[in-house]
Amino acid sequence: MAAPGMSARVVVVGAGPAGTRAAELLAAAGLRPVVVDEGRASGGQIYRRQPAGFRRDPRALYGTEAGRATALHAAFDALGPRIDHRPDSLAWNIHGGALHVLSGGRAQRLPYDALILATGATDRMVPLPGWTLPGAFSLGAAQIALKAQACAIGGRVVFLGTGPLLYLVAAQYVKAGAGVAAVLDTAPPAARWKGLPLMAARPALLAKGALLVAQLKRAGVPMRRGVVPRRLLADATGTRVAGLAIATPGGGEEVIDCDAVGMGWHLRAESQLADLAGCTFDFDADSRQWLPRADADGRTGVAGVYLAGDGARILGADGAEIAGRLAVLAVLQDLGLPAPAGQDAAALRRRRAVMDRFRRGLALAFPWPAELVSNLPDETLVCRCEAITAGALRQSATALDAPEVNRAKAFSRTGMGRCQGRFCGMAGAEIIAAARGVPVEAAGRLRGQAPVKPLPVAAVVDER
Ligand SMILES: Cc1cc2nc3c(=O)[nH]c(=O)nc-3n(C[C@H](O)[C@H](O)[C@H](O)COP(=O)(O)OP(=O)(O)OC[C@H]3O[C@@H](n4cnc5c(N)ncnc54)[C@H](O)[C@@H]3O)c2cc1C
Repeated sequence: MAAPGMSARVVVVGAGPAGTRAAELLAAAGLRPVVVDEGRASGGQIYRRQPAGFRRDPRALYGTEAGRATALHAAFDALGPRIDHRPDSLAWNIHGGALHVLSGGRAQRLPYDALILATGATDRMVPLPGWTLPGAFSLGAAQIALKAQACAIGGRVVFLGTGPLLYLVAAQYVKAGAGVAAVLDTAPPAARWKGLPLMAARPALLAKGALLVAQLKRAGVPMRRGVVPRRLLADATGTRVAGLAIATPGGGEEVIDCDAVGMGWHLRAESQLADLAGCTFDFDADSRQWLPRADADGRTGVAGVYLAGDGARILGADGAEIAGRLAVLAVLQDLGLPAPAGQDAAALRRRRAVMDRFRRGLALAFPWPAELVSNLPDETLVCRCEAITAGALRQSATALDAPEVNRAKAFSRTGMGRCQGRFCGMAGAEIIAAARGVPVEAAGRLRGQAPVKPLPVAAVVDER
């Protein structure tokens, strides 16, 4: 690539931990990056800021991570005019060497010499019968309600799923004084031991996890592992969650009373923009998800496109900060620009490698329940945007002979709605693969399509 020097146009998507550290290092290198985020303020998911007018203490909001949260916010705020920050701005397409953004209702085209995608992750969901009832939330949404608005999703909440966020959000609810009816983990108890050797790479984080479980025990919250959920039950009006049915070892069913369910199975990388940029994807067998290909510094095979943070690999917030810095060092090198003094890419890569070991350990300890998903009853609504059931998906895979998810989408409309398959795509692939008797990777992945999120048609027309 020709070196455009200090006038290089660098665009960062995402102002979470990865995007913040990327912006900071770019500014230190003398560049003025454009930082686009659909959020109102920087901070990303974990360090989400409270709305204007809310004055909760950072320790109440972020717990043990309060110091890191305030440091990250301060670092971003200190950048001031050295970056071009565009909040409330959705990056919805990448085309013709430019990022396409909707900002303040207006379409913008941002041509770039280097584009760093630091788009984070979202909840990974299992569609259970009844998961569309009011009162059923994703774990992330349950946490956002608490962090952003100081609200609980219910008075007797069941937390269901697997992964560290399951225990973290439950503990945050307990600390906030909300009622937690149970924490139900679908991971088999033995899975933990499988993940332990890799998770031992980060003993301090392991200890934090053990502390969360101890806090929940002390609070008297019932916790179970190896749970097989069957369905969410509605109240007499049919309009609100009133319980969760789970399988009992004898083949029966037990109902746990509750008025809300927070559910999530770890996270999935938010990778549609990487897809639209033309990145190659590989199937990651540990997490059973397709991830965009990038080297340890975030370079993709596409010139000028870099990945950082959870959008590439779910390494957590501190891993995202490292990845943001590494991506900038790669950008500077590729643009032929000097890196600011004191940057040690080799040390950053070593720390990142430790975090990646931990990530693989987590995937083993808290596995995605593939069998549960592939055996979901036919009547389960899988694609909630288009109201497509597991049975209809199976039909498209067998009777209509769709060999993979994109063909099944064409036949059934699964993944064609507002969420573009972000919440149903992984479950859909499991169902199709099982129906055809092939491994899930053979069912492929839904190709990213613009717009990655809904936007007014007028905005696209304006742009032209
Ligand atoms: C809901 C949720 C809650 C979490 N809570 C915790 C927690 O409590 N503790 C913990 O340790 N980890 C938590 N995690 C994981 C943690 O947030 C991540 O590991 C960490 O934030 C990764 O940083 P990041 O910069 O890669 O991404 P993020 O922090 O997710 O930041 C990505 C940013 O990109 C923006 N973005 C994405 N797509 C677009 C687009 N198309 N256009 C414009 N902007 C876009 C988003 O608005 C976001 O601000 C949570 C994850 C999720 C999804």
